[in-house]
Amino acid sequence: MDFNTIFQSQKQFFNSHQTKNVDFRRETLLKLKDLLKINEERLYEAIYKDFRKGRFDTFLTELNLVYNEIDFFLKNLDKLSKPKNVKTALSLQPGNSHIYYDPLGVTLIIGAWNYPYQLTLSPMVSAIAAGNTCTIKPSELPENIMHLLAELINNNFPSNYLYVAEGGIPETTELLKFRFDKIFFTGSPKVGQIVYEAAAKNLVPVTLELGGKSPAIVTETADLEVAAKRLVWGKFLNGGQTCIAPDYLLVQESVKGKLLQIIKEKLNEISYSDGAEHYTSIINKRNFDRLIGLIDESKVIYGGKSNPETLYLEPTIMDHVTWEDNVMKEEIFGPVFPVIAYKDYDEILQQIIDGEKPLAAYLFTKNEEEKEKLLSLVSFGGGCINDTLMHITSDYLPFGGIGNSGIGNYHGEFGFLTFSHQKSVIEKTNWGEPNWKYPPYTDKKMHWLKKVM
Ligand code: NAD
Repeated sequence: MDFNTIFQSQKQFFNSHQTKNVDFRRETLLKLKDLLKINEERLYEAIYKDFRKGRFDTFLTELNLVYNEIDFFLKNLDKLSKPKNVKTALSLQPGNSHIYYDPLGVTLIIGAWNYPYQLTLSPMVSAIAAGNTCTIKPSELPENIMHLLAELINNNFPSNYLYVAEGGIPETTELLKFRFDKIFFTGSPKVGQIVYEAAAKNLVPVTLELGGKSPAIVTETADLEVAAKRLVWGKFLNGGQTCIAPDYLLVQESVKGKLLQIIKEKLNEISYSDGAEHYTSIINKRNFDRLIGLIDESKVIYGGKSNPETLYLEPTIMDHVTWEDNVMKEEIFGPVFPVIAYKDYDEILQQIIDGEKPLAAYLFTKNEEEKEKLLSLVSFGGGCINDTLMHITSDYLPFGGIGNSGIGNYHGEFGFLTFSHQKSVIEKTNWGEPNWKYPPYTDKKMHWLKKVM
């Protein structure tokens, strides 16, 4: 079916108002959850074929998050979708004030490849919960996943409500020409800009979930065992191909040797070998070659082995890195971990502030002042103190970037709001209105106006 037919039919279906019915939304969410559960094995198989991501990681970092999101809405949808009563100012009395949560309409979700289920299905869950129709354009890179998502959604839901559009850049470019009521994009800042420009032509509101270089800082007060364990997990999960992975490590000089020693021990213990169930391959040869190009062999203190046949790249740590090195000039998005030692905490915070606003930041410390400084001085999307990645798992925290790392957010109630219009309505009585706002204007009316306003 061509995209124009899909778009027009979704518009028509949205205008039939069926998606506004809360029971209809709930039934759709339940059906989606059942569909994913029934087909879980196929979802595991497809992702393994595409980039050798194992079952445990796929459940933990993809399906589990989608199921949680569905469960959140099954539990909270009634409350979220009801008009909210808010205070009514004295100047508006007698009357009352409400916020109505209107669905935006016909929405488009464009996904990135690295968490191909979560990054398309979680926003779709929010879009459904908020009462919209939805077209998903998954990334074309994991192609088995793209075909499977299209098969599952397109065979089980009417295309005038939910639809998966397959394709790459030409297809996305075509989709971007339609006047959607919302575009939700996950991907690189470069393509984010293309999407934003296309959306601006039709005044389409956007949410952009982008990337960038997210720092991890370890100070000398940190629990180094905990820091090493959580950094290794957060950095090398999904083969380092995580938008919020710690991109590089800033460690206080006095503890660098000890921290790196523990990190190496943890890496040896876990053994991220070629073909290990818990270690994901690089998505394609282009990214594999790009990552190899970022490695300066003279600085490698751990790892560096690779296999172009299986697109395996061993966790690789580079020490004595400077801000001028190539590896510090772009988002790494792979299992290469550059280390920069620092003496002055304020100076490295300033380095971060001087760069693009990161999607995430992580600080390992027991020092309250260091924590307060990071949180009050540095602007970043979200992050953790004494952990990595885990902020993304909470339905009670908005997930999104700032500046170069994104616009807007989602997850739980925040996703509902992202796909809703908050319609403000004042309802007045037909009695009891003071006369002061109507001409003729007098000094007495002005006196009352100033008092009441
Ligand atoms: P990408 O920007 O290359 O592609 C994302 C989507 O845009 C794909 O569906 C692709 O088909 C489409 N696309 C690519 N080029 C296009 C063009 N010229 N015109 C129109 N559409 C185009 O990103 P990617 O390689 O899939 O993902 C990696 C990037 O995504 C990294 O920067 C990463 O940090 C970021 N990311 C961000 C988040 C987040 O939640 N903030 C999550 C995952 C990935």
